[in-house]
Amino acid sequence: MKSFFDLTRTEVAQIVGKPAIASQLFKSVYLNRSADAAPFDATLPTVVRRFQSEDGTQRFLLQLEDKEMIESVIIPGDERLTFCVSSQVGCALACTFCLTGLLGLKRNLTAGEIVSQIVVLARSGVAGRFSVVLMGMGEPLQNYDNVLKAISILNDDHGYDLSLRRITLSTAGLVPGLERLAAEPLFPNLSISLTGATNAQRDQLMPINRKYPIEAVLDVVRSLPPQRQKRVMLEYVMIKGVTDSPADAEALSALIGTMAVKVNLIPFNPASELGYERSDDETVLRFHGHLLEKGIATFVRRSRGGDVSGACGQLMKKAMEVSSQ
Ligand code: SAH
Repeated sequence: MKSFFDLTRTEVAQIVGKPAIASQLFKSVYLNRSADAAPFDATLPTVVRRFQSEDGTQRFLLQLEDKEMIESVIIPGDERLTFCVSSQVGCALACTFCLTGLLGLKRNLTAGEIVSQIVVLARSGVAGRFSVVLMGMGEPLQNYDNVLKAISILNDDHGYDLSLRRITLSTAGLVPGLERLAAEPLFPNLSISLTGATNAQRDQLMPINRKYPIEAVLDVVRSLPPQRQKRVMLEYVMIKGVTDSPADAEALSALIGTMAVKVNLIPFNPASELGYERSDDETVLRFHGHLLEKGIATFVRRSRGGDVSGACGQLMKKAMEVSSQ
């Protein structure tokens, strides 16, 4: 049986023959939480474990039909919840500061497996409106078609009706995927993980930079129309002695120049397997100040869920430990 979560409303309508039934099914499953989507399969991933952080963050270890494990995280906010979801089982990019990178890539998720993570989180008893960030395990632009399909299902006004401004795709900067995305009618907020302001530095931290260097990535951002460029965020992980010097701040602000992008500084989340340390608070503050002085809209991300290994770059290693017990 076909998974309901893998289908757009148009596809459902084609299969059942009536658009009105497709609309009803979208409403009953996504809004009224019906467990029945006949004639389709509405089985959700199994919640194997749920970890509750002291700061309210919740990390979900989910098992898919073929027994592979992924993780999703709920991060509470002042106005909204953020649902952080995975796009792949593991990841092929091997960024040296990210635990998921140690695993290698197992497989892509289907569109339905991406959508169903959100369904699980939305039904998990944590009340409230939510935004979605594709910032969990995996590289969304290496799973382009399924990720874009999932976005269109989430955006459907008969289902979750999630605005594209409430969906963020986070990428390590795959240029062909970025170029394709730039031409899409459905354009989510775009986060680009930079973490390195020179090619020499970024080559070491993110091997994908050897294929798609910084200039090529930023050229795509420069080519975006202003309304889209404004929705780009550069993410920059602050690693002690590696990415956090005044010269790094200078190089980063020079790179950005007059682009309308924002910058998100993410203090490195440590793990014993990774040989790095988090930048000191004062260093982060100074770096932040430098970018602000240059007129760049810069934010420091408060790390959430670190005590349950649910913070950026901490996903999956611990899940493997749990699953092998
Ligand atoms: N592959 C995508 C999405 C997953 S990574 C991407 O690269 O954007 C999501 C974010 O977590 C990225 O911005 C990445 O730079 C950041 N990150 C990875 N490891 C981290 C760590 N140990 N500490 C803090 N942030 C980390």
